[in-house]
Amino acid sequence: MKITSIETHVCHARMRNWIFVKVLTDQPGLYGWGEATLEWHTKGVMGSVEDLAELVVGEDPRRVEHLWQMMHRQHFWHGHGAVRATAIAGIDLALWDILGKVANLPCSQLWGGPVRDYVRTYCHLGGGNMEDFYGTAADDAKRFGELAQAAVEDGYTAFKSMAVPPTMPIEGLKPIRAAEAAVAAMREAVGDDIDIMVDCHARPSPAMGLQFAKALEPYGLYFFEEPCWPESIDGLAMINAAVTTPIATGERVTNLAAFRDLFNARACEICQLDITHCGGLSEARRIAALAEAHRIALAPHNPQGPVSTAASLEFGFSQPSYIICETVHNDVPWRDDIIDDGWTMEKEGRIVRPNQRPGLGIELNEDEIKKHPPEKEVIQRVFYKDGSVGDW
Ligand SMILES: [Mg+2]
Repeated sequence: MKITSIETHVCHARMRNWIFVKVLTDQPGLYGWGEATLEWHTKGVMGSVEDLAELVVGEDPRRVEHLWQMMHRQHFWHGHGAVRATAIAGIDLALWDILGKVANLPCSQLWGGPVRDYVRTYCHLGGGNMEDFYGTAADDAKRFGELAQAAVEDGYTAFKSMAVPPTMPIEGLKPIRAAEAAVAAMREAVGDDIDIMVDCHARPSPAMGLQFAKALEPYGLYFFEEPCWPESIDGLAMINAAVTTPIATGERVTNLAAFRDLFNARACEICQLDITHCGGLSEARRIAALAEAHRIALAPHNPQGPVSTAASLEFGFSQPSYIICETVHNDVPWRDDIIDDGWTMEKEGRIVRPNQRPGLGIELNEDEIKKHPPEKEVIQRVFYKDGSVGDW
């Protein structure tokens, strides 16, 4: 059995291009699907997939780990960067999909699962409404409260919000009070049974992130995400030690060694690995084993397309320390048109039961994908009020 070619199929979905990777084989009807979406780097990822294809075309697709080692280590440069790690992930997901189809088993069963009856999911209140936020603190708090209530009415028992406004590395009390008002409004709207998460998008400095974390501590957040840059490991560790709120990070951490450094410093309690950016399911399984040794929980970052979601769910059925999965359901109305999958989301509680189909349990509709050709992604330039460069 041999890999004959690797294709990328790209479509535009609101704020990002979804990059799907198809690995074809010399066996009639046998191929696998992966996803390698990386916002604002569409061409870079497509080029990287093309470079990697030179290494793996002609090889046996069932040697998933062997091929992962080739893609990560060969041609001198290791695949640690975001573009290459995402391209590797796209191919790696497709290889696992093929292996599952060959074995006629869902991937989670290849990995010894399922380890749970269902995977719990959460939504993001931001959705298409981020432009509504960061007006007056009172207006924002009211809007966050309304969206929180709507998420619960939609069946969710957990949601995430960007209730921390963009700030300069150090600012005074105003943004702290605004964040507090927003979280208070959400808690007031949904009560104590619902889990609230707040994402800082790694905008604050460690000192500012600590102030936000302290101010929001009384509201019992499920987790507090990226309170400072992920590379500020000492800053994250300082915040994690200073509050009872579990600190989450990892969506921009692209390899096992970087997660080792985070875990060794106890810089987080929640590992938000992104399966499409961390080198795929092969590397994700290693990161999960390392997290397990530190008793750090897994909650994958997953705002991309439907193959990323299928991989994140399949992974969840094989990992004991997996607590919740991010999902997107309202980005584009045609999301379900491009994919036929084996997953059913139960609206009551927004939980997903195990997939029974082989591999990742999905089929993509290439004709539907073609209806939404790739576009230039909306440029996001962020500057502080003094004109200096900020983080998005
Ligand atoms: Mg985030």
